[in-house]
Amino acid sequence: MISAFGEETPAYDTDDVAVLNTIKNECRICGIHLSLMPPIPAELVEVSHDDLHWALRAEGRQNWDGLSGPETKQCFDPWERVVVTRDGCVYPCEAYGQSSGAVGNLKAETFQDIWRGGLFTRFRSDLLRGRQVGCVDCVRRQTGPHPLPHYAARILPEGCWSSEEEVNIRVQNIGAFTWTKDARLRVGTSGRRDRTNSTYYHPSWLAPNRVCTFSEERVAPGGTATFRFRISPVKAGAAERFQLLFEERLWLPNTVFHVPFTKCQ
Ligand code: SF4
Repeated sequence: MISAFGEETPAYDTDDVAVLNTIKNECRICGIHLSLMPPIPAELVEVSHDDLHWALRAEGRQNWDGLSGPETKQCFDPWERVVVTRDGCVYPCEAYGQSSGAVGNLKAETFQDIWRGGLFTRFRSDLLRGRQVGCVDCVRRQTGPHPLPHYAARILPEGCWSSEEEVNIRVQNIGAFTWTKDARLRVGTSGRRDRTNSTYYHPSWLAPNRVCTFSEERVAPGGTATFRFRISPVKAGAAERFQLLFEERLWLPNTVFHVPFTKCQ
């Protein structure tokens, strides 16, 4: 089990490391950055020392010129990362929660239950509405309407498939504006965003890190977009991660999928 937090806390035991390794792998598959509070066992140092988190922060403020949606500084941490302390408490970021409380504890719940649970969901919902009191003093707090209600999407697994040569992804517009080609909503390589070394790369892609855009002319709120693209056949078992993004604006949370097609749960 996860040990108690504090100076006198003994080193992580074998069970702790096993639990955290499982969580680390779940996070990696879904593109969630996991941070652990020190002291960190050697086996898990890489979890907190990779540069994904810094890449996410760098992506936090993009070019919002000419947008039809909110133009505002924003925080995406609760959708893209998670912090675990030595006593098993889970927080949306380092800055939040020591006074406001954790959104769960790994001693009592699974990581998946916490990530999708009521406390974490309410936290995100309050942040979207500017009501998150735990964020009031944070320098990363949003300065206006959060863009996520405006630019929101969800993958419809029942309409998605992949073969050895093609992938078909169906995505519902659950945001507040109609997608047109001008919005530049695209599938990008992920698993390190903007990777240019995809083994599935096909010459028909827009670029080595940009796969395709949707085929419809317009997709109104509630409607469904189709992303169909060719892939180069690779040896069986190769799995790669992709994600939707509005070009130069934001990567959409909850739109991670894998080829061969699997939606991140
Ligand atoms: S605004 Fe600050 S305190 Fe709130 S979730 Fe984001 S990083 Fe954490």
